[in-house]
Amino acid sequence: MVCELKAKERAGTINPIFTCQPAGAQYVSIGIKDCIGIVHGGQGCVMFVRLLFSQHFKESFELASSSVHEDGAVFGALNRVEEAVDVLLMRYPHVKVVPIISTCSTEVIGDDIDGVVRKLNEGLLQEKYPGREVHLIPIHTPSFVGSMITGYDVALKDFVSYFAEKGEPSEKINLITGWANPGDVTALKHLLEQMKVEATVLFEIENFDSPLMPAGNVVSHGDTTVEDLRGTANAKGTIALNRYEGGKAAQYLEKEFGVPAVIGPTPIGIRNTDTFLKNLSRLTGKPIPESLAWERGIALDALTDLTHMFFAEKRVAIYGNPDLVVGLAEFCLDLEMKPVLLLLGDDNSNYKHDPRIQALQKNVYYDLEIVTNADLWTLEDRIKNQGLELDLILGHSKGRFIAIDYDIPMVRVGFPVYDRAGMYRHPVVGYAGAIHLAESMANALFADMEHKKNKEWILNVW
Ligand code: SF4
Repeated sequence: MVCELKAKERAGTINPIFTCQPAGAQYVSIGIKDCIGIVHGGQGCVMFVRLLFSQHFKESFELASSSVHEDGAVFGALNRVEEAVDVLLMRYPHVKVVPIISTCSTEVIGDDIDGVVRKLNEGLLQEKYPGREVHLIPIHTPSFVGSMITGYDVALKDFVSYFAEKGEPSEKINLITGWANPGDVTALKHLLEQMKVEATVLFEIENFDSPLMPAGNVVSHGDTTVEDLRGTANAKGTIALNRYEGGKAAQYLEKEFGVPAVIGPTPIGIRNTDTFLKNLSRLTGKPIPESLAWERGIALDALTDLTHMFFAEKRVAIYGNPDLVVGLAEFCLDLEMKPVLLLLGDDNSNYKHDPRIQALQKNVYYDLEIVTNADLWTLEDRIKNQGLELDLILGHSKGRFIAIDYDIPMVRVGFPVYDRAGMYRHPVVGYAGAIHLAESMANALFADMEHKKNKEWILNVW
């Protein structure tokens, strides 16, 4: 019985789990108020990413492209960045923050986006926009390295390091959520409120779930301000919930400004939420209130109703963002399930040093395969050719055809999810997230029992 961590053996990728680095940088950008990112590359590098955001949230987001064409690919395309910045500033008078996000093509041709930012700061901004607050921030996200996860991590650190500014110490903490949904932010803010802890939430994306108002459509954007980012240097501490999506920024603030950093664990499930609250209490000196003990009790009660009777020994495959996958695996283990296949969609060499993965390797008593640089064919191959039997799949919508083809129940979780309604509104973190996840898994298993006429009568007497 082993828990093996190994890289996919095949060269090439069939049905990738992740998209590329610039997508992560774009996700961070839309979380900032008065910010429109310019992606320096071909138009598709924005168009398909925006489409994913729109599919997932059923909302519209603003992102720009320098729209590099053949001539730019050969002779360099920095003139396109200069033009794009000018057009963007003319057209959007409220915009203050403009990250210039590089892509594979513009990194390969060697376009100097740092140099063009200097040139624009000294030229265009002073000549045409004197007195206007504009921040041009180069963000390097070549897509031949890492994935959308590293792109998120890099961009978040770049924004924080650009703005963070030493000032008066504040009572706030920085809470870096990682690649979260609006429902997660709502759940986290509820926990903070119960703890009476003031926090700068990076990024404040609750409004990605936007209203339809009488005056017309609202364009969705995040609410993290330049002032919020500046203040990160003066916080009492930083909690980065995800190791791979925000860990770098937390480390930067600790190193540069002495803001203590706590990285992880992702608060999925009861034990990880308990640890999050204890970390919050330790950093701020605030006690965990009785109200949260009550909420924890409700969550425990909901899980106890399901665990032994329906979840025990159920074999689960999980794919998606690494912190999410590891957090879900830990939660499944706590529910007596057996995560048997974990797929991490990139080749981050740090996975083998991740204490959570090391703990899985040490403690799991059955065969568990963790594959890095994995794709969705890895999942299909295990089922189709290697006889992997599964009771449940946890992952985003890109794997739905495997669930359909092999008739395996699936709970949608992660990004992107577009084939189930409103999933972005539900948390996976905190006690509320534990209830939502467990009940979604149970309902998926119940529907499968009925569909396959497999002891469905149990549901009559339960
Ligand atoms: S792989 Fe390169 S060309 Fe394709 S979307 Fe990503 S950055 Fe753009």
